[in-house]
Amino acid sequence: MKDSFSFGTLYIISTPIGNLEDITLRALRILKEVNLIAAEDTRHTRKLLSHYNIHVPLTSYHQHTHKNKTNSLITFLKEGKNIALVSDCGTPGISDPGTFIIKEAITRKIKVIALPGPSALICALTISGLPTNGFLFLGFLPRKKGKIKKELNKAFLCEKTLIFYESCYRINKTLEILREEIGQAQLVLARELTKKFEEIIRGKIDEVIEKIKDRPLKGELVVLVNKSGDF
Ligand code: SAM
Repeated sequence: MKDSFSFGTLYIISTPIGNLEDITLRALRILKEVNLIAAEDTRHTRKLLSHYNIHVPLTSYHQHTHKNKTNSLITFLKEGKNIALVSDCGTPGISDPGTFIIKEAITRKIKVIALPGPSALICALTISGLPTNGFLFLGFLPRKKGKIKKELNKAFLCEKTLIFYESCYRINKTLEILREEIGQAQLVLARELTKKFEEIIRGKIDEVIEKIKDRPLKGELVVLVNKSGDF
């Protein structure tokens, strides 16, 4: 039986959140060297790999199959093979599949190495102008109004910058809930980061609602709120 020294390594690789140039040299090297790349969406990842001329076998690892798929990937790692895990964008495990296999690998004494890189929440926080000395990331908010209110009120007890991911289709409704629950606070919408139509909208909640009321937002969005922070 193999001991853990002869097991392979699970690499957790951050990939671009829009701009294909946002990938590290180390990430490209490891993606070329591993035996298998496990991707949230193989078609999506294939575009990145062909851009960098990487030809390594790909397998899918997405939110609907990841529990079943984990066992076969763990077996592969135990045979001494190396796997790179990537998601559609940013850092695996951050509102993306990843945590389950990472936990399993740790339990089975398989080495897990993170290759740091883009994540939409850090990119947005960095340029938000809001306090960065402590923040609370909520991932995606729940869908139901009552649950959103409960989550926001609990989160605001910590008085740090609050960050969450939101769809452009739901943003107006969510901002109305924020206004109802918190009143006034500094708000930042970070849209289409690193892409052609990147846009940062800053202001008090009322001001931002006013700014976007006649122009439906498109694309991907990070929302940041701080009750005390001034710009
Ligand atoms: N794992 C990713 C990360 O590390 O940022 C997050 C994946 S999550 C499924 C996708 C959400 O991230 C989007 O709905 C959006 O809220 C946010 N996001 C991803 N790319 C973005 C971008 N370029 N600009 C703004 N928000 C983005």
